[in-house]
Amino acid sequence: MTETEIAIVGAGPAGLMAASYAAGLGAKVLLLERSGYLGGQLIKQTHKFFGSKAEYAGERGIDIAHRLVRKAKGYSNITIWQNAAALGYYADGVLTVQHEGRFVTVKPRKVIIAAGAAEKSLSFPNNDLPGIYGAGAVQTLMNLYGVAPGKRMLMVGAGNIGLIVAYQLLQAGVEVAGIVEAAPQIGGYWVHAAKVQRAGVPIYTSHTVQCAHGYPALASVTLQQLDAKWQPVAGTEKEIAVDGLCLAVGLTPLAELLWQAGCKMQYVPELGGHVPWRNHNLMTTNRDIYVAGDVAGIEEASAAMVEGKVAGLSAAFALGYQTHSLAEEYHQAIEQLTGLRAGPVSAKIRSGLAKVTLEEVI
Ligand SMILES: Cc1cc2nc3c(=O)[nH]c(=O)nc-3n(C[C@H](O)[C@H](O)[C@H](O)COP(=O)(O)OP(=O)(O)OC[C@H]3O[C@@H](n4cnc5c(N)ncnc54)[C@H](O)[C@@H]3O)c2cc1C
Repeated sequence: MTETEIAIVGAGPAGLMAASYAAGLGAKVLLLERSGYLGGQLIKQTHKFFGSKAEYAGERGIDIAHRLVRKAKGYSNITIWQNAAALGYYADGVLTVQHEGRFVTVKPRKVIIAAGAAEKSLSFPNNDLPGIYGAGAVQTLMNLYGVAPGKRMLMVGAGNIGLIVAYQLLQAGVEVAGIVEAAPQIGGYWVHAAKVQRAGVPIYTSHTVQCAHGYPALASVTLQQLDAKWQPVAGTEKEIAVDGLCLAVGLTPLAELLWQAGCKMQYVPELGGHVPWRNHNLMTTNRDIYVAGDVAGIEEASAAMVEGKVAGLSAAFALGYQTHSLAEEYHQAIEQLTGLRAGPVSAKIRSGLAKVTLEEVI
């Protein structure tokens, strides 16, 4: 049994920040990452981020990841396990972990869950054909392994992820036959949409995928128009020949460990699915468990980093660690989060958070 003061599940931006800030206060941290690399989604982001300077706007996601990893590795009281998937959380506060192929147990005093999110899928006939991917898989193939996922592809979803990944496909030399969006308008930022449209990629708003065709792999996709009530309009079908279809239709929090730990959960569509109740310190209804990042509600890396800071400081503080600047750092982070969520684009996030954030101050 490995004992530690704080175990952190997930080494994306939220987990890395949580580790550095908890360790900065003096806590002994074990950071668990199921994959062979650190940085979470950021490691695949080759585009420059928006936002404010405080959250590294203007830098590429991959460079932000390297910066956060360097910072965490600078603390001798952080132990990092890669290829370490947290599989279960038990009533006595023990985590079971599959580490480098072996099953081990970890006994932390506090846990910060920063496991991120899983991609949503779409149901249509033949949606399991080889050649149909989630946007995360496409980014992993292209930006981590240097493999083009197809020669001619369709993107589903005109949110930021769909638009950005469509542009990255073009950069990788893949022909993008179009972007399909069920809503009557593009959901992502216009700057991303303008880039793909300038490259001649059509965006089919009010359209959906009716069916995929091909054997043994994807050969074409039939699209269909949707009416004002989102119902398919007969006679509007068009078949497009492609060898790849990329689904960028949203993310949902990876909340299994939180369910297992008995945290009170609520379905909040504005936050992407089931999320835990939490207070402003990001402590859940299980007082030994904190959350940060997409697992607490789908937002952006900027919010994930600041939430990581709040959760890291709060968990270490709960263990008795303090510095003279702690209160200032904590309040700065809370102000940063409020600022990030202030604009009209974040109205949905604010309404979602209001449903699951408790006023209790610890
Ligand atoms: C295409 C795309 C473009 C984006 N562009 C931007 C942008 O411009 N600006 C911006 O701010 N955000 C952007 N984002 C969003 C941003 O990447 C995410 O919001 C952010 O990465 C969430 O951070 P996280 O730490 O919560 O989760 P993640 O980055 O997903 O990290 C979670 C980590 O936990 C690990 N993990 C999961 N389960 C376990 C387990 N059981 N045991 C151990 N480890 C586990 C995962 O392997 C992963 O490394 C973009 C996302 C995508 C997909």
